Order: sequence, then structure tokens, then C-alpha cells
Amino acid sequence: MISVFIAFPFCRHKCSYCDLNAYAGLDDLIPAYVESLIVETRLIGRGADAPVHTVYFGGGTPSLIPLPLLSDLFASLRDSFALTDDCEISLEANPDTVDAAYLKGLRQLGVNRLSLGAQSAQANELTLFGRTHTFDDVARAVKLAREAGFENISLDLIYGAPGQTMESWQDTMKRHLALGVDHFSLYALSLDFGTPLRAWVSRGLLPEPDSDLAAEMYEWADEELGRAGFTQYEISSWAKKEELQTSNSKLQNSKFECRHNLQYWRNEPYLGLGAGAHGWCGGFRYSNAASPKAYVNRMKEGVERPFPFSPALAQSIPVNRETEMSETMLTGLRLVSEGVSEESFRQRYGSGLGDVFAKELGELSARGLVEWTEDGARLKKEGRLVANWAFEKFV
Ligand code: SF4
Repeated sequence: MISVFIAFPFCRHKCSYCDLNAYAGLDDLIPAYVESLIVETRLIGRGADAPVHTVYFGGGTPSLIPLPLLSDLFASLRDSFALTDDCEISLEANPDTVDAAYLKGLRQLGVNRLSLGAQSAQANELTLFGRTHTFDDVARAVKLAREAGFENISLDLIYGAPGQTMESWQDTMKRHLALGVDHFSLYALSLDFGTPLRAWVSRGLLPEPDSDLAAEMYEWADEELGRAGFTQYEISSWAKKEELQTSNSKLQNSKFECRHNLQYWRNEPYLGLGAGAHGWCGGFRYSNAASPKAYVNRMKEGVERPFPFSPALAQSIPVNRETEMSETMLTGLRLVSEGVSEESFRQRYGSGLGDVFAKELGELSARGLVEWTEDGARLKKEGRLVANWAFEKFV
């Protein structure tokens, strides 16, 4: 089974920490952009012969897509791909961009998982981040989403920001936990190149983020989420414990784990549609033109390319077996409870973990960061805070 990612790189306002492929002030281009997505969906769908079990609308801010345009895009998606009956369809939304009618419309189209960019409950932190919403907007969006029938709601939060205190972080976590959602993604703030936040810190206008404090925030949040009935299944992701009763149990341990992201972390194939979208399919990693204007122009020019590439292709890199095995370790070790299974690795590559990565796993295991047994390898709690360092072993 494959997954489909649809990029919508339009935002009302660019956040101060954001280095994603996202643009403010291009709203006039949205109708032409969605039209291009519809064309791309048809072209790529012609070559896709596997069922699609997850679709993810990522941003940018996909909740800025007007419902009539989204409806046309869904019609094309369903015509072009074999979506499974229980296909997980996620859409990222900013809390102040949705109302009751919009959320009901999303449910009617088949969106069944909503991911809200909440980030903080503190007004001063939201202002610092350049967010346009308040905590009350998040609470309102969650309530309206429940009323619209969403049974799977996720919140993104940021910790480790300049000036953020343990008290403000605990308050942020507790207030968002009280909203009764099903999934949390917690991200350590990184000062990425080219962002205003990085410039403010470099000019001394803001204090340097405190990495020790960020580690304490992470550990406290993990414990607090555990007390609230959530299980960590990936370095940054926690899902409400709820056993699956259906055939999905092969795909995830709790019905609230993000099946689309599991596809990435298991290094399974996905198709990327839209400006700047990345894909991994047919032995290639590839990406489309990043600028929405360039994307629309390339789709209009319509240069024919073989599946999985579209006329908007900007770059493609063939991935050999060695690289694919390394990538499987890099992404699979993010799955803190599942890890990389010996059996699935052997089935996929014809070699065991010890045949390929004995040195790397031996070293990480000796340092107490990875648990390596005959069943497979997984990151230990001690390894989570130094995960990036540990992953470099496989690059
Ligand atoms: S809403 Fe998201 S994608 Fe858009 S600028 Fe902010 S962080 Fe970036």
C-alpha cells in the first residue's frame, strides 16, 4: 500500500520560526494551484497500481483551501487512486482558519483526521512565534471539530523556545491536555537559517534557547502524557491508548497513531503532489518545484514524465540498496516502541541487521542508547535526547 502527500504551501502570515516551503500573500494563485493539483492527481493516479491507505494535506495551511475547490480535488483523488475503505485522510489546519461549516464540509468530503497547529497556550509565546491565533481559538476549533464528527484530532506544540519557562510549558501542556484530543506532536524549537527568530537571537534581542531546559521539558511532557493515558510511539509523537479492533492493528498499535507518518518512518513508499512536495517511490526520492508559481507553470507546460514523476518534477535521486537500508534505520529508530524489526528488515533486504549494521548497532548498544536483540533494534529512553547524534551513525 502507498500513501499520498499533498502540499499546500500557502499561509496567511509567515511564522517567525518557520523554514518550511510556505508563502504568505499568494492567495490569488490558490484557484490555479488547486487546478494544477487536480491535473497532477490525474496524471500520477494513472501510474499508481497499489491501493492508497493514507492521504495527508500538509502545509502551509491546507485549511485555507476553499471547500468548493477542495471538493473538486477530492473528486479527482477518488477517481484517480484506489483509496482503501478505511483510508486515513489528514488535513493540517490553523485554529483560526476553521469554523463549524468548514469542519462539517471537511468531514463530508472524507477528511477523518485533523491536525491543528496549536504551538502554545501563552499569548506572549504565540506573539513571538508570529502565530495569528489564541489558545481560545484552539479550544473553539477542537470543540467544533468534535461536533462536526472528527474522532481523531492531533495538536502540535513547541517547547524549548527562547524565554519559555518550565512553568509556562507545563501550563501549555495541561491546558491542551484538558481539551481531550487524541494525539500530540511535540517539537523542540530549532533556530533555522533565514528565520526571523534566528536573527533575533543572533542579534542578542532574545536569549539563546536553553537545551538542558528543553530536555527537561521533553521528559516532563512524556511523563505527563503517560499519566493522561497517552503512549509515545515516535520521538515526537504520542497517541491516546486505544487498542484497534480491526485489521488496522497490523498497521498501528493505537488507532490514534498517525498512519501516514508511520509510512515515512517505516520507509515505505509515498507519492508527493504539489509545490515542493517530496516523494519516495519506484526506487527514487524526488521533489517538485518549490515555488507555487513555478509549480503551476510547469503543470501548464505539461512535460510528460514516467511514473512517479509529474511535469512539476525538480529533482530525482535514485536510491541504491545500501542507502535504502541506512534510511530504514534512520527513520525506523524514530519509532521508539516498534523500532526496526529483524524479521521485516531481513524480508525486505535478504540480510539481517547484524550482517549490515553490526558496528553501528554494537556501538550504540554499548553506550546504552539502543536496545539490540534478536527481534530487532530500538532506541532506548536514554537515546531519545541524543537521537540525532545516534542516527548519524547510519548516514
Ligand atoms: S502556519 Fe505553519 S507552514 Fe505556515 S508559516 Fe506558520 S509554521 Fe510555517
